[in-house]
Amino acid sequence: MTSLKFLGTGGGRFAAILQTRATGGVYLFIEDPSGRLRHFHIDPGPGALVRMLAMGLSPLKTDAILVSHCHPDHYADTEILIEGMTDGGNRRQGALIASRSVLEGIGDFGPAVSKYHRAKPLLVRQVSPGEAVEIFGINVEAVFSAHSDPGSVGFRFHTPRGTIGYVCDTAFDERIVRAHAQSRVLILPVTRPLGMPIPYHLTVEDAAKIAGAVRPELALLTHFGTRVIKDGPPKAAEWIQKQTGVRTIAAEDGMAVDIEEILKIS
Ligand SMILES: [Zn+2]
Repeated sequence: MTSLKFLGTGGGRFAAILQTRATGGVYLFIEDPSGRLRHFHIDPGPGALVRMLAMGLSPLKTDAILVSHCHPDHYADTEILIEGMTDGGNRRQGALIASRSVLEGIGDFGPAVSKYHRAKPLLVRQVSPGEAVEIFGINVEAVFSAHSDPGSVGFRFHTPRGTIGYVCDTAFDERIVRAHAQSRVLILPVTRPLGMPIPYHLTVEDAAKIAGAVRPELALLTHFGTRVIKDGPPKAAEWIQKQTGVRTIAAEDGMAVDIEEILKIS
């Protein structure tokens, strides 16, 4: 059973500061080759811990934390969640997979995780685009992103039921399309509305260009900036679906998506 739960669907500075929508990231439940359900937490931004507990998820059960880049709406709760994953820091277990900016620091960015916390998980891997890592037998690939943090990476989760792509904050770039080719499910960060671009982020049009070129079976929109939230994310999803013919859903805080059910995989 592969499924997703959105611990937050807000993104960008003001949506995060004002918690216009929650910013806890995405929780992915994914089966390892032995059939055990693994719990992956992607981009635990501010409030991730509180949102998890409110939704009945235990931070003690997390198997892996993945951080795409060194902006606080993506990394803020990482350290306390490492403490959760490692049973209060008492057991060396779990995996931490993150960009070089998050773990080591690049220029003005990071590091975002202390040495103490980096020493706690069983597996700590710094990833750059093109690198893959096996986490409990699940292949996770880091892919290109054109974001202001030069260490930024997107992720691809290769499951026996197909590939789930997680697009990191990014400007539109053909390399994003190539990096996420053949994803069955594509998670897209839509920070800006139609016709209102800012550098290094996707507008609704940009997200449509990516969805239209990759052609996943399902595009899930998240990481909404305040203006997208004001306009109504379902409107953005409708527009993208109309433009591309790709089934598109705007995620909501707390929304669960059963990937197998939605793709009708048996
Ligand atoms: Zn960012």
